[in-house]
Amino acid sequence: MKSSPSIRCPLCNATNLKCITRQSEYKNWQCLDCCLIFLWPFPREKELEKLYSGEFHLNPENERSNREKVRGFNRILSVIKTFQSGGKLLDVGCSSGIFLHCAKQQGYDVYGIDVGKEAVERAKSYYGLKNVKQGILEDVDSRESFDIITMLDLIEHLPDPLSTLKRSLRLLKKDGYLVLLTPNASGFVSVLTRILLAKPFGMWDHPEPPYHLYQFSHKVLTSYLNSIGFEIVKSVYHEIPVKYAAERFYYTLVEILRVFKRKICGEKKIKDFKNQAVLKVSSQPDKRFRKVSILKKVMHGGLILFSRIFMNCIYVPGRLFQKGNNSLLILRSKSAFTGE
Ligand SMILES: [Zn+2]
Repeated sequence: MKSSPSIRCPLCNATNLKCITRQSEYKNWQCLDCCLIFLWPFPREKELEKLYSGEFHLNPENERSNREKVRGFNRILSVIKTFQSGGKLLDVGCSSGIFLHCAKQQGYDVYGIDVGKEAVERAKSYYGLKNVKQGILEDVDSRESFDIITMLDLIEHLPDPLSTLKRSLRLLKKDGYLVLLTPNASGFVSVLTRILLAKPFGMWDHPEPPYHLYQFSHKVLTSYLNSIGFEIVKSVYHEIPVKYAAERFYYTLVEILRVFKRKICGEKKIKDFKNQAVLKVSSQPDKRFRKVSILKKVMHGGLILFSRIFMNCIYVPGRLFQKGNNSLLILRSKSAFTGE
């Protein structure tokens, strides 16, 4: 599907666009000139506010998932430490403060900002972080300056990442670093799931619509940052836990099966079948429904197993060829190099 003339690539302004997926009212477009993938139309401002308020940031009381997050953040901090082992660190989109908590433990003087009111309250009350406030980067006093600014899993959510990145350039000390973590649209998981799921079924979980407004490949991101005035000093391919990727893949497969079922049985038949099943189960389940339930369990078990094996198989070449799920970039202002 080609674009309507009103849509332009937010990066290079081209109108040569192709619609690559459509999930409910959200469409992902790819610019055929610069390869940027972006959601259009963007969710409205009110919708975006709703998306990131309330429970969005609050970590469930799940020790295991928190431990995984802490491990991932400590890996990122170990990369940052090789460039800057202390100083003032500002985390933009700090959510409920787990990363800041890790950074504080490693000796950084930490500051945070986030749009979510509940998340900021949690960062203060749960982790005892004092210098965390609600807002966006534009709300940070321009007289402030930082040794490190981190934006972890942030820029893909912003309607205008360009202005936020430019602002960070002004808030960094002369030799300061910007640390970016964002999904890698040219990573193996993204590319393979796009080929296998997006093209034939129109389902592609990687962009997480409507949350991710942009999908940056490593190449696109590099040229984007260069045009703003950043120089990449280190780039690392970073991976999300394989279990999480497998779970998401599993849910997409289940959704595809549901679509098939709807096409084969029709919506009415499925509803009738469900009503009958509820009646039977609530009275006395007969053998036929028990069989269906066992078959369903076996199918789901098989899908879970397949998803885990599939993701593990993709992760191996992803590691070998440095094509992980996420790009972690350490950046400096170009003027820091030229001494302007
Ligand atoms: Zn473009």
